Amino acid sequence: PSSIVVGDARHCDPVVIGGEQAMPVIMAGPCAVESREQLLETARAVKEAGATVLRGGAFKPRTSPYQFQGLGIEGLRLLAEARQETGLPVITEVMEPEMVEVVADYADILQIGARNMQNFPLLQAVGRRGRGKPVMLKRGLSATIDEWLLAAEYIVAAGNPNVILCERGVRSFDPQTRNLLDLACVPLLHELTHLPVIVDPSHATGRRELVPTMARAGIAAGAEGLILEVHPDPNSALCDGRQSITPAELRTIVHEARLMVQIM
Ligand code: PEP
Ligand code: MN
Repeated sequence: PSSIVVGDARHCDPVVIGGEQAMPVIMAGPCAVESREQLLETARAVKEAGATVLRGGAFKPRTSPYQFQGLGIEGLRLLAEARQETGLPVITEVMEPEMVEVVADYADILQIGARNMQNFPLLQAVGRRGRGKPVMLKRGLSATIDEWLLAAEYIVAAGNPNVILCERGVRSFDPQTRNLLDLACVPLLHELTHLPVIVDPSHATGRRELVPTMARAGIAAGAEGLILEVHPDPNSALCDGRQSITPAELRTIVHEARLMVQIM
């Protein structure tokens, strides 16, 4: 895969994704930024556990309009504060074309969520007006690989070649897991494209007890990295607590991932 540099050395510790990268990139943090205290505590803990990118949603695409929708701009400010304190570059979701510049002012990677994978005006906006920030494009809820790659093409064609793909599971017939993790897509994508691939075991399973195993499986499949939802108190999370792991569990996953790439 081609290499993508994430983060600007003036604001954080830059990270390389893809290319000759030696270690998997570990993006970790809460599903949603909930408060200053929650975010800073989580950011320090994931850094300590070995994460190299901080995740956190400020604008949340929730299924119900009555669920917590995120802190918005205040969430972006808190992410920038957490970056300044920890040195971790930040990834956060942008949901609408009108918000691309403001999110790009704070984020080091722009996340396009699964529900927006085929929001073509949004894809063009992050390609054209994302201030050159890399874009992580999550696979749509039931998107084929061809649809996903064509969506990536929209971003590239609009002027931004730095696209990262994220497999987060697809809809299946079986409600036992939140989604169905399509791990074969990782080696397949490596045949079809030069874009780096990140696996999201949190949204793929929806169950924290399955996350460590599927994280290892993602690394075994050849992913350039993982994105993991971490919360200091998962049971009290405002969003996706059922699939959130603790910082201590993250530490084990990071350790295992590093050991695995040494023998691969
Ligand atoms: C998220 O990363 O919290 C998220 C909303 O993921 P997805 O778009 O994959 O559902
Ligand atoms: Mn989530």
